[in-house]
Amino acid sequence: MSYVTHLSCPKCGSKYEESQNPLFCKTHECNARIDVHYDFEQLKEIITKRELIRRPLGVWSYSELLPVKDQSNIISLGEGGTPLLRSKRLAEHLGLRELFIKDETRNPTWSFKDRPMTVGVSKAKEHGATTLASASSGNAAAALAAYCARAGFSCYCFVPDIAPMGKIAQLLLYGAKVVRLRGLHKGDDPTVKLLREACGTYGWTPCPSFGPFNPYQAEGPKTLAYEIIEQLDWNVPDIAYVQVGAGGLLGGQWRGFTDFETLGLVKGHPRMLAVQATGCAPLVQAYLTNQDPFKIVPCASPHSVAEGLCDPLPWDGDLALTAIRDSKGSAIAVEDDKILYAQQLLAKYEGIFAEPSGVTGLAGLLVQLELGTQDPSECILVEATGSGLKDQDIVIQRVLTPPVIDPDLNQLRQALGLEK
Ligand SMILES: *Cc1c(COP(=O)(O)O)cnc(C)c1O
Repeated sequence: MSYVTHLSCPKCGSKYEESQNPLFCKTHECNARIDVHYDFEQLKEIITKRELIRRPLGVWSYSELLPVKDQSNIISLGEGGTPLLRSKRLAEHLGLRELFIKDETRNPTWSFKDRPMTVGVSKAKEHGATTLASASSGNAAAALAAYCARAGFSCYCFVPDIAPMGKIAQLLLYGAKVVRLRGLHKGDDPTVKLLREACGTYGWTPCPSFGPFNPYQAEGPKTLAYEIIEQLDWNVPDIAYVQVGAGGLLGGQWRGFTDFETLGLVKGHPRMLAVQATGCAPLVQAYLTNQDPFKIVPCASPHSVAEGLCDPLPWDGDLALTAIRDSKGSAIAVEDDKILYAQQLLAKYEGIFAEPSGVTGLAGLLVQLELGTQDPSECILVEATGSGLKDQDIVIQRVLTPPVIDPDLNQLRQALGLEK
């Protein structure tokens, strides 16, 4: 059973039937993402509060709002259903009334990318594909590789040569075939270039985490917003600080928030505040200089400690820009130092160990508070989108090596400066 009515290209308006299994818009040379549309009149009858409360929290609890028809095609590792923690210590430290943290580090491959990939791989199975490929800085590839392993599919991953080995080791162990690509600083994204050519030549199904090349996985991040609304007891935050790479995380959640509004499950939606690193901020630039959503100027030389956000072109930038504008949000860029500081704060005050890319939204909140442009009495949401365990080098560089001593109280006193 599927509630998908059709798919359409946001750029040229071309319509597609679901049965055509379109992957991207083929008319007008759009090469754009195509969007999946659902029958909301019918969904209103099924997706009620009472029904949702009955179901456990998780991606596939919203299966009617996802594009997989036959539930037996679902490839799952138990993704989603992550905690929404109300911050006590960090909120107090920052002088905030209400701060919530959605802890996405607890997903099966330790990032939110499991949400798009469980949908992408399940839909590929439904269409009879057995070889999938991804262009990714690491987390999306790791998630794709894990879900392919679970499904028994072959997986090819194109990653930039700046991706940390911790992430690459993970995909290799899942059995993916991996190449690292040089040339991220030459304008065109080399991983996407090769993805396009290799899939065209070998007939593999592209499944990156962004919309163009595959419309289905882009549906996954909607479920983050659905869960947050349920966890806030059918309320929405005033503002959501979201880190942006390709834009699917922010854009997908915006769809999720507005879906539940359309279904009459909740009133209102958060303002979406997009945060990028200053070393790669094409979406922020596009917002500030009012660029055409379909002609965003790429970043010429991406560099940041938040390597997971170093997409030269925000592929879902049109969706993200629309989300920012429609929600009356905004977009800001933050320095690497601030990102590393946010990583430390989240670990020290809340016990959540996230990677730099996963705390860039929080870094944005810190900057807005300093500038006095964030009202501290609002209900604020941040999201820890990836685990710190994947890139420990960046942490080890910044901490002191603890002393080695014998099991002796005197030596302990000396080493830690304790009193007698
Ligand atoms: C991919 C990624 C993001 C950004 O998501 P986009 O959909 O590319 O904008 C944020 N955090 C982490 C940890 C990621 O891996």
